[in-house]
Amino acid sequence: MKNTLLYEGKAKKVYQSADRPGQLVLSYKNAATAFNGEKKATFSGKGRLNNEISSLIFPMLAKRGVESHFIERLNETEQLVHQTTIIPVEVVVRNLATGSITKRLGIPEKTAFASPLLELFYKNDELGDPLINDAHTLLLTDLTAEELEEIKHKALEINQQLQHLFSAMNITLVDFKLEFGRMADGKLVLADEISPDTCRLWDKTTQEKLDKDVFRQGTGDLITVYEEILRRLEAQ
Ligand code: UDP
Repeated sequence: MKNTLLYEGKAKKVYQSADRPGQLVLSYKNAATAFNGEKKATFSGKGRLNNEISSLIFPMLAKRGVESHFIERLNETEQLVHQTTIIPVEVVVRNLATGSITKRLGIPEKTAFASPLLELFYKNDELGDPLINDAHTLLLTDLTAEELEEIKHKALEINQQLQHLFSAMNITLVDFKLEFGRMADGKLVLADEISPDTCRLWDKTTQEKLDKDVFRQGTGDLITVYEEILRRLEAQ
């Protein structure tokens, strides 16, 4: 039996697994988009790199007690995950100021936050993923107030674990975006992906950007820097 396509996003296709009920196949695409889809390009090998990177990070987090939807990597570009209902909120954690927060609030580039700053964005392309507060989140999702606190707590815990992991790779974790999903039994778990598409990663020594900013800003070769992230992860 063939897997059926459920959804196609900007960076991944989602299939219902034909032989494994309750499980999905995520197929990572070679497409890169930025600025809410305004800038687009295709990079041969990007799907494989993000699939491999994500497939290394989720188990590393699992070892440190972070539950996610990830089950296993299936092949070069696909991974198997538990089916969840995605909460339409992007949870961003920032350790250093860059990107949208510098423009929105005038905070100088590279300002270090004394404690990590957590922001919530409503996942809605038509609205341009607006920044929302807790009350908005409770209005727009089925999360209870306790569950929202749980997600925030998890995101900050994941920040600590990822900072630790990337630090060992001589990389500063500048900021990143997480998504959470609800399992059939109601439990909330980390979902989507963790990759240089969703994290800002700066080499500690050279400050070189090893993430999607090289594409956003047109300052380097995306494949070269994603390969460097994979190489350093594999050495862990
Ligand atoms: N991010 C993401 N998907 C989005 C928006 C942001 O993965 O739709 C990530 C982005 O890669 C960065 C962090 O979230 O690591 C914070 O992004 P920011 O709000 O600064 O937005 P940007 O400057 O990318 O528009």
